[in-house]
Amino acid sequence: MIFDAPQVERLTGPFGCALTVDVEEWYHTCLVPDYVHPEGRPALPHELDWLLPELLEMLHEARCTATFFVLGEVAERLPRRVRQIAEAGHEVGSHGYLHLRACERSPQAFLVDLRRSKALLEDLVGEPVLGFRAPEWSLRSLGSSRLPRVAEAGFLYDSSLNPCAFSGRPTNPRFAYRVILDGLNGLDGLKGAGPRRELLEFPPLTFGGPLRLPAGSWTGRLVNPERLVRATLDHLDEGGLPLAVVHPWEVSGRPTPGPLRGLARFVHETGRPGFETRFRELLAAFRWTSVRAAACLEQEYTAQPAVSRRAG
Ligand SMILES: [Zn+2]
Repeated sequence: MIFDAPQVERLTGPFGCALTVDVEEWYHTCLVPDYVHPEGRPALPHELDWLLPELLEMLHEARCTATFFVLGEVAERLPRRVRQIAEAGHEVGSHGYLHLRACERSPQAFLVDLRRSKALLEDLVGEPVLGFRAPEWSLRSLGSSRLPRVAEAGFLYDSSLNPCAFSGRPTNPRFAYRVILDGLNGLDGLKGAGPRRELLEFPPLTFGGPLRLPAGSWTGRLVNPERLVRATLDHLDEGGLPLAVVHPWEVSGRPTPGPLRGLARFVHETGRPGFETRFRELLAAFRWTSVRAAACLEQEYTAQPAVSRRAG
């Protein structure tokens, strides 16, 4: 179900550059339903138990921090790795409990999943989990009836509305913004409950001007890092918060350890050769930080940032 798009207000900086990591195994692809539903999943090799320490070391060498959007079922299997992420100074966010498309679940099932993943992660790291990213950007658009559920579950911000075609919508704003959720249909759990309901939204970086190509994913893996550096600089010049996206399996430098076919294989394998080196070049170009740090969200609790009415 699609509701009227809520009112938005563009957030103004200055901002830092945010690096985000979706913490999931190679088989957590919504393009292969048998893999993402745990009850039907065949026996598949795991990688994260050793990929995560490698990625933490890579970020340590580059003197960068990041937001790790951790999948709940991964956190349950690898609690020690989640604690290590937080202990290394990174932010832990939620990627949901199961890697299922939000837009294909009932709002209630989605809300239960959000709360389960948030509680699980907060128990592990001992601090509030502020941010959420839906599997496969599956909130899709501002008009999603699932978007208010993210606020209802207690998240301060969302990073699920991709301003690109296919995984998102080209009509979604490119720059960070505040979503005003008051007065929307379907907010039964929120109505009349305290202060104005809102959510901060941090969209992923794009390149290619009006083409709005994802800087993460296979499109970003194919290009010279200079293109992504330029896109990052341009975004900063426009007062935005450049937000990069990566998965641990992308930068491992190793082949995928199990079978993928069709579109899933294309999305996973395209641009992989040499990407670890290109990613290190991108890391070296900026002092990447978590979303929480890049957007100064600690201050968000005590003072509302200045906003303008544009959200282009
Ligand atoms: Zn994912």
